[in-house]
Amino acid sequence: MKCVLVHYSEIGIKGGNRRFFEKKLVENIASSLNGRWDPGCTSNKTGKSASKIKNVIKGQIERKRGRIIVRTGVKNINLLTKIAGISSFSIAEETQLALPKLKKIVINIAKRSKKKTFRISASRANKSFPHTSMQLNALLGEAVLKATKMKVDLHKPEIEIFVEIADKAYVYGEKIQGIGGLPVGTAGKLVCLLSGGIDSPVAAYKMMTRGCRVVFVHFHNHDPFMSKIKHLVETLSTYQGRSTLYLIPFKDLQQQIIKKTEPKYRMLLYRRLMMQLAEQIARKEHAHGLITGDSVAQVASQTLHNLNVIYEPVTMPIFSPLIGTHKQDIINEAQKIGTYKTSIIPYTDCCSVLIGKHPETHGKIKDIKKLEKKLRIKALMKKALEKAEIEKI
Ligand code: ATP
Ligand code: MG
Repeated sequence: MKCVLVHYSEIGIKGGNRRFFEKKLVENIASSLNGRWDPGCTSNKTGKSASKIKNVIKGQIERKRGRIIVRTGVKNINLLTKIAGISSFSIAEETQLALPKLKKIVINIAKRSKKKTFRISASRANKSFPHTSMQLNALLGEAVLKATKMKVDLHKPEIEIFVEIADKAYVYGEKIQGIGGLPVGTAGKLVCLLSGGIDSPVAAYKMMTRGCRVVFVHFHNHDPFMSKIKHLVETLSTYQGRSTLYLIPFKDLQQQIIKKTEPKYRMLLYRRLMMQLAEQIARKEHAHGLITGDSVAQVASQTLHNLNVIYEPVTMPIFSPLIGTHKQDIINEAQKIGTYKTSIIPYTDCCSVLIGKHPETHGKIKDIKKLEKKLRIKALMKKALEKAEIEKI
């Protein structure tokens, strides 16, 4: 019988908590294949989709010593490339532990592949099976040699046929890479300051693959480009399921800053304000910290001096997972996760409005605080939060 065999790597090295991670991964696979990916939904015990997912898990998804067997949704298999925690997966033949059966399946896979060289890679988790992995490699390899014109190549085979011995046997000839990491929903919640640029979507993705659920906040001073931001969140939500996006009007705050401050300091004031507003949303959302797309020295706002100034008003932890990553590597990652094309659509981020030709690169907290005192914007901040639009994507 055909099934999907799912492997995970990092969860495997978890000690006592391993079951918790495995269970979450199973839930995420079930709700994704079920067409309504919402990693929170199985904890809602009365929800309709929760019971549907529980049924899917009961009937068709099984956890077994270091692997997950999925007996449904073989047609949606590509969805698994979006689920954090999975290191690789394969469409496998599930069969009884009988050598003649195994030989037949291995020969079939070899023949269908139409390749010239092969190797068998057997692994035996179930030690009650009488043949060791080495013996299996030899026995099954011999069977393929006899039945085909193929040759063995242990180092660079055109096809590697895997045989895994558990309480049943699983045989497959192709491994599809997953994104690895840890399942979304195992590490708590974070709020990401999402700009329309290349970096912050990648930063959000990286935290998702460490198990975090991410809520998005975007500050804007005009509406026509909101579809770009929503599209970015749509793409990112393929990795975590249903997502929340806060759209916060920044125009009034920005105009007040422009009125009261000379151009070179404005960008620092914008960003400090954004951080404080995002922190308030994070508290409301019971999140554990903020995410930014900052990368040291990439632009004027990201000198070490300025990052000190920008992060100073926030008491929550701030996570900037791209802080030491080069731009080209960030671009490559953005292309891989599918956000790049949207990110490069022309868009004027409100952070770059009227900031002068030479923004301050060595900001000092003391000076910036003085400028902020003159702003008198507490009421405007409150209003911006009240006017926030909240979208579920
Ligand atoms: P990005 O590519 O993520 O836009 P960037 O290199 O353009 O980053 P900045 O524009 O200085 O750098 O932004 C740095 C970080 O500040 C962003 O990664 C994001 O986390 C946050 N940020 C900037 N503008 C906004 C915005 N309009 N709304 C929400 N967050 C923002
Ligand atoms: Mg930007």
